[in-house]
Amino acid sequence: MKLTELKAGEAAVIEAVGGEGALRQHFLDMGVIPGAEIRLVKLAPMGDPAEYRIHGYELTLRLADAEKIAVQKTAAAGEPEEPERAEDTEHPGLGEGGRFHEKRSENPLPDGTVLSFALAGNQNSGKTTLFNQLTGSNQHVGNFPGVTVDRKSGQIKGFQNTEVVDLPGIYSLSPYSKEEIVSRQYILNDKPTGIINIVDATNIERNLYLTMQLMELETPLVLALNMMDEVRGNGGSILINEMEQQLGVPVVPISAAKNEGVDELIDHAIHIAKFQEKPRRTDFCDESDRGGAVHRCLHGIMHLIEDHARDAGIPVRFAATKLVEGDASILAALRLDENEIRITEAIIAQMEQERGLDRAAAIADMRFSFITKLTKACVVKPEESRERERSRRVDGILTGKYTAIPAFLGIMALVFWLTFGVIGKYLQDLLALGIDKLTALLDSSLTAWGTDHMIHSLLIDGVMQGVGSVLSFLPIIVTLFFFLSLLEDTGYMARIAFVTDKLLRRIGLSGRSIVPMLMGFGCSVPSIMACRTLPSERDRKMTVMLIPFMSCSAKLPIYGLFSSLFFPGYAPLVMTALYLLGILKGVIVALITKRTSFKGEAVPFVMELPNYRMPSAKNILRLIWYKSRDFITRAFTVIFIASIVIWFMTSFNFRFELVEESKDSMLSVIAGWIAPLFRPIGFGDWRITTALITGFMAKESVVSTLSVLLGGTGALTSLLSLRSAAALLVFCLLYTPCVAAIAAVRRELGRKWAAGMVLLQCTVAWLCAGAVYLLGALVF
Ligand code: GDP
Ligand code: MG
Repeated sequence: MKLTELKAGEAAVIEAVGGEGALRQHFLDMGVIPGAEIRLVKLAPMGDPAEYRIHGYELTLRLADAEKIAVQKTAAAGEPEEPERAEDTEHPGLGEGGRFHEKRSENPLPDGTVLSFALAGNQNSGKTTLFNQLTGSNQHVGNFPGVTVDRKSGQIKGFQNTEVVDLPGIYSLSPYSKEEIVSRQYILNDKPTGIINIVDATNIERNLYLTMQLMELETPLVLALNMMDEVRGNGGSILINEMEQQLGVPVVPISAAKNEGVDELIDHAIHIAKFQEKPRRTDFCDESDRGGAVHRCLHGIMHLIEDHARDAGIPVRFAATKLVEGDASILAALRLDENEIRITEAIIAQMEQERGLDRAAAIADMRFSFITKLTKACVVKPEESRERERSRRVDGILTGKYTAIPAFLGIMALVFWLTFGVIGKYLQDLLALGIDKLTALLDSSLTAWGTDHMIHSLLIDGVMQGVGSVLSFLPIIVTLFFFLSLLEDTGYMARIAFVTDKLLRRIGLSGRSIVPMLMGFGCSVPSIMACRTLPSERDRKMTVMLIPFMSCSAKLPIYGLFSSLFFPGYAPLVMTALYLLGILKGVIVALITKRTSFKGEAVPFVMELPNYRMPSAKNILRLIWYKSRDFITRAFTVIFIASIVIWFMTSFNFRFELVEESKDSMLSVIAGWIAPLFRPIGFGDWRITTALITGFMAKESVVSTLSVLLGGTGALTSLLSLRSAAALLVFCLLYTPCVAAIAAVRRELGRKWAAGMVLLQCTVAWLCAGAVYLLGALVF
């Protein structure tokens, strides 16, 4: 039967996994392999996707993907089998001080060599927390060369000449997501001197899957077993010595959140890197495993390709495993000749026949069999951990059939209210007050010093005005990021994606895009920055492109002014209509681009639902600090220049003379040129055009510019008819967001995208405003 035929709570054993290519490899890497037991936990409230439990963790699958998996129902609902306890091995516990190491003096790397470590692990294994503990405040954030995937690196606290690079969270070394490609390339090409592999000990089977592959790379590795506080707290334990023996790498139990065992981890990491102590074991196939077909196949291929692997600089065991899995990029890198390719294919075909599994499944199965044996010998699991129990109870509400969506809306409303209504606003007012004070102070001192009139104007009307108005966004951004990271680190973000996936799929995206899009109603800048967390390039670009259609809060003053002047009494109706129109436009654009520039599959929704956890305050504070610094530095430069340019254009005419009246300025003249463009859609006045241009700086300036140029906003009613006011409102709703947002897009996606987006939005805005203007002729 198909996996989709299971009812909630029922369990089955997987018989075959269909599908093909990278997606199928991803299924296998997540543990969806023939022979594994899988249980349907529940369907999402909208009926798709579904949550399954496999290898002791929760996984989401879309029904369309689950269709491809054939299962055999198990008789009993499968009581978890009583773990066999290995014979007790003596372990002195924390701080044993490296009794495992075999090398103490031979050939250390020369003093002064920089020891570089790759920090690798699954998502939600505590990587960020550990990275912060290891490096303290000594961190640099940037991008991996050529791609927008965060690259954080830093020096280990108290150790000169060390560097830790926090790789993106990955499940496997198969090139599935951009993150996995980046991580794999970093380890293979940049050759760090050591790997710190962080493993979530509460979810050890799934986490060790990556470990096996990292060990095959023959780079010195130390295993950090994280979340040991939870394991211990639930009465579980892990026989560390036994595990070290079997794996041949140092294993250090730690709790990153509680800073336990981290010093010991550092000692081991430095030791293995310094003495280049490679994993003693890289061989995970077993010659007694079902006739040893996989074992014979792997070793045969290893011998065959040894020279090619050496020439390509790829560890031979890793190369062989990836070849058997069917990894195209490794195959290309090895430069096998035709004969050798034929032989390897023949060996693999023989193995598939003997083993009764296809190549990729056979390798995944080999890894999981090893892991099962290992955990049986070394891990004493508690019956049911308190954290999982708690997560299940919370999920009863947060992903419950009838409660999920109200809960989601409630939580989002709360976040918005707190951000824009309470905290953000309070901080914003405070900051605005500070900026005003500073401006006033500067103003009076400039006057007192008798500074040149032009410089005075540049500093006050240009820099302070422009930079100040954007800087006042900072509190909102910080607050929004605080809540975003709270949602992410607690594990709720994954649930939001689970609940809303079906809806977002209709427009060609996955559930993960909903949060950045919702944040767009607040401010586009942090929302665009938040798209980083999206799993695929395509989704990231598409979401970034849609965000500006979610009307940001800076446009509210415009709506307020125009509704009160032109549609008194209907303000709420007008605003609601505008918001809905924005969303509708976004949906339409998404539906069109889904078929054109964003063709291709939406990311498959194979995602882990981690246990809910309390994030550490330190993590969150640090994240906020980085995001604010990012915003200030990156956006500042653009805004700083833009403010000066706008100031220059409003203060000078084309003969570069200071103008007395604003209507003679460069900006007004240019606005006069552009204005005819807007005549057909009802608002071809140069003053309105000027206001729209300053709206580029920040949407708040539209209203203030109008009132300066018109000497009060009352004059608007004589300038605009009802239908041209409606058209103008629609134009303001849809045209390009402010420079800060454009700068954010440019930073995430590059110059070309930013320019394309500006063009697209202005065109859409013009067309829609035109349509409203025409329709208005019929209505008003
Ligand atoms: P990442 O996704 O791998 O970067 O994981 P994070 O560092 O963001 O951690 C995920 C969650 O696990 C956060 O809520 C952390 O506070 C929590 N966490 C991290 N390490 C530990 C630990 O040792 N014990 C416990 N109980 N929680 C932890
Ligand atoms: Mg993290």
